[in-house]
Amino acid sequence: MSIEVQNLTKIYGVQRALDDISFSSAKGEVTGFLGPNGAGKSTTMKIATGFVRPSSGTITLEGVDVVKEPLKVKRMTGYLPEHNPLYLDMYVKEYLRFVGAAYKLKKVKHKVEEMITLVGLEREQRKKIGTLSKGYRQRVGLAQALIHDPEVLILDEPTGGLDPNQLVEIRKLIKQASENKTVIFSTHVMQEVEVLCNHIVIINKGKIVANDKVENLKTVQSGKLSYKVEFEEEIDIRLFKDFETEYREDGTYMIAAETRDLRKQIMKIVGDRELPLVNISKEEQSLERVFQELTKGT
Ligand code: ADP
Repeated sequence: MSIEVQNLTKIYGVQRALDDISFSSAKGEVTGFLGPNGAGKSTTMKIATGFVRPSSGTITLEGVDVVKEPLKVKRMTGYLPEHNPLYLDMYVKEYLRFVGAAYKLKKVKHKVEEMITLVGLEREQRKKIGTLSKGYRQRVGLAQALIHDPEVLILDEPTGGLDPNQLVEIRKLIKQASENKTVIFSTHVMQEVEVLCNHIVIINKGKIVANDKVENLKTVQSGKLSYKVEFEEEIDIRLFKDFETEYREDGTYMIAAETRDLRKQIMKIVGDRELPLVNISKEEQSLERVFQELTKGT
């Protein structure tokens, strides 16, 4: 199930929370949706799940418009909102049955049992939601998002406020749940993105500032690809005059250019000149650094 966001704008009063954003997630892809607080992530997710109407633009799930066919979209989508709005006075099982009934599921009882096992709520299933810790409430939230086996999962900061053990558990659950589903989730934790996502969208002040594969974001900086190149002995750097070059203190050379073919071109010069190459590797930036660069000044 693919997700297409096209020229989406949301204006609250005078504030432009989303300013003409477009991106898409292919079927089966896990997209990490990143951005500083107030960037517009929750707003996008609320529009995608039919809870908020856009001012202009569209979101479609496999061609189904979320504004025109909200019920159809709700059946296809599992949503974990940022402030997981659970009924605190309800028992875990009771709540999940209630959600299952709202989706008019057949064999609700069986489905509830299945979800309880899937998210690891066996020991808590007879408790009131209000008595559960944040980690267990998130599990209940995930169970309600998954109970109707949706093709699309939209998770707004599913690991926010969890302790390190809970984090690992919930991440594992998301990974497991995301098999065979198209997933968009927001987070502030870059490590999570590396573990779970193949695609990243970064939003800043209502505009998309990055939309790429994790690997490309880490290796392409300002449109340039860089290689760290090491030779057995010092070489004449002018051989690489067509590229941006830098000699580093550790005796290696950085060679960069705006071309996907850079490695081939470096290797051609190395081969033609019989340079004593020892090592060549792509230079990578951490996702934290990429994020900071792209969202500077916020
Ligand atoms: P994020 O999820 O990235 O933190 P949000 O989508 O929640 O960002 O918010 C984007 C901007 O829109 C923020 O400046 C926020 O204050 C504003 N905003 C969000 N919801 C409303 C609302 N219901 N009314 C007015 N402004 C809102």
